[in-house]
Amino acid sequence: MSTIFSKIINKEIPANIVFESDNVLAFNDINPQAPVHILIIPKIEIPKVTDINGNEHSQLLGEMIDAANKIAKDLGISEDGFRLVFNCGENGGQEVYHLHLHLLGGRKMNWPPG
Ligand code: AMP
Repeated sequence: MSTIFSKIINKEIPANIVFESDNVLAFNDINPQAPVHILIIPKIEIPKVTDINGNEHSQLLGEMIDAANKIAKDLGISEDGFRLVFNCGENGGQEVYHLHLHLLGGRKMNWPPG
């Protein structure tokens, strides 16, 4: 089932887009939890981590990590470090069922995450 992120991909609703390629889109999270909080998503609809198939999606996941690295570098947070998070399912705290990689940075992250 399509989510609000499909509408962002199709430019039906606005988002602050920071990176776009053929397969990947990245935009600012609407409710940032850190000075840098960006969501990196595939343009195809994969609901969650458990729907990932390594054979089929490894290239796409690589592109998502490449995008995260590029964005972190462009924003100057690469050297100090950052956090990448996939929330999966109810216990993982997932709210939007379109796969997304959270890129969080610009401050020291806590662990455990809570
Ligand atoms: P998750 O809890 O991992 O599913 O994360 C979903 C994230 O999407 C949350 O951090 C929300 O703040 C964010 N979000 C929801 N709607 C939008 C939107 N329209 N634009 C940007 N970020 C959004």
